[in-house]
Amino acid sequence: MINFQYARANNVADAVRMIATDPSAKFIAGGTNLIDLMKEDVERPSRLIDISRLPLKTVDEIAGGGVRIGALVPNSDLAYHPLIARNYPLLASAILAGASQQLRNMASTGGNLLQRTRCAYFYDTATPCNKRKAGTGCSAIGGANRGHAILGASESCIATHPSDMCVALAALDARVHVMGPEGARVVAFNDFHRLPGTTPHIDTNLHPNEIVTAVELPAKGFAANYSYLKIRDRLSYAFALVSIAAALELEGSMVKEARLALGGVAHKPWRDTAAEAALRGQPATPASFARAAELLLRDARGYEHNAFKIDLARRGIVRTLTQAAQATPQSQSDKKIR
Ligand SMILES: Cc1cc2nc3c(=O)[nH]c(=O)nc-3n(C[C@H](O)[C@H](O)[C@H](O)COP(=O)(O)OP(=O)(O)OC[C@H]3O[C@@H](n4cnc5c(N)ncnc54)[C@H](O)[C@@H]3O)c2cc1C
Ligand code: SF4
Repeated sequence: MINFQYARANNVADAVRMIATDPSAKFIAGGTNLIDLMKEDVERPSRLIDISRLPLKTVDEIAGGGVRIGALVPNSDLAYHPLIARNYPLLASAILAGASQQLRNMASTGGNLLQRTRCAYFYDTATPCNKRKAGTGCSAIGGANRGHAILGASESCIATHPSDMCVALAALDARVHVMGPEGARVVAFNDFHRLPGTTPHIDTNLHPNEIVTAVELPAKGFAANYSYLKIRDRLSYAFALVSIAAALELEGSMVKEARLALGGVAHKPWRDTAAEAALRGQPATPASFARAAELLLRDARGYEHNAFKIDLARRGIVRTLTQAAQATPQSQSDKKIR
């Protein structure tokens, strides 16, 4: 057991002020990831700043369409919120594909964005890991890398981002609202998470002492033609080997607009706008979807134990886009939220 201090923030300005006074302090929201990491001795914060009671727990419609989701909205509340279930069922499906009901009750929107990789070596302090301790090496390259990245990896790290929710947020063009000592700013979802490069210990482009306050979604939710497919070793309570968020706007049998993002394949949710552009104006057929999959996976690279993911992703993309086109979404949970 490590010793740490505990303090509760009363408002967002208070939280930013408190974190800025101590470089080794950490925010705690639902605690479902951070407490595990502390138990494993991966994280050793000197102080926990409890943000769980900040007034960031509402989902509000915004002028001109779209919604603003407070950073402390629990994952369960978000998935079952009428605005989300009705207008953004892709997001609801992705959330309900993750973790367990109990975990989703505790897990927050902001915490889901900032959860850390599930690479086993990251959790095992007896092994080298550049993400846990910069410059020590990557045990997964040449090690047990079945769950690791096939896109955007580097020689320093081949870890994946484990979130389901973030894959849907990437596809839906979300924006992240943050607040820090320099004031508020908004980050496009695709710029929020980073690729590992030579600095895999830095997961996101959040500046020091910034807090996530909200996630904003534009009005367009692709509620008619969407699907979230999560392929994993067990049907529940497992992280994705490959997951796919697909959304289409159709004009007759033609694709007017497409969104495509993958989880479980890279250090960040992997959205490919070139593959989306290639679908525009094409017939909504498996042949078009297969071409988009080829394009998206053009730079994919497998390692000793995870090369199967390339074909899995290729076939999964075609299947998910087909489900979206046919308005027969994958998630079993859809029945519950309609
Ligand atoms: C057994 C298990 C299975 C799981 N399965 C899945 C799954 O299949 N799919 C999936 O997507 N997820 C899964 N999860 C992960 C779960 O969704 C995350 O742990 C959860 O979303 C984290 O949210 P939290 O509020 O508990 O974060 P915390 O643990 O409180 O915090 C996580 C990190 O985020 C930081 N943080 C939290 N809120 C903010 C904020 N507002 N601003 C800045 N920093 C912040 C904290 O400092 C910490 O570093 C699983 C977790 C467990 C334990
Ligand atoms: S893949 Fe990344 S997280 Fe895993 S051991 Fe290598 S450096 Fe660490």
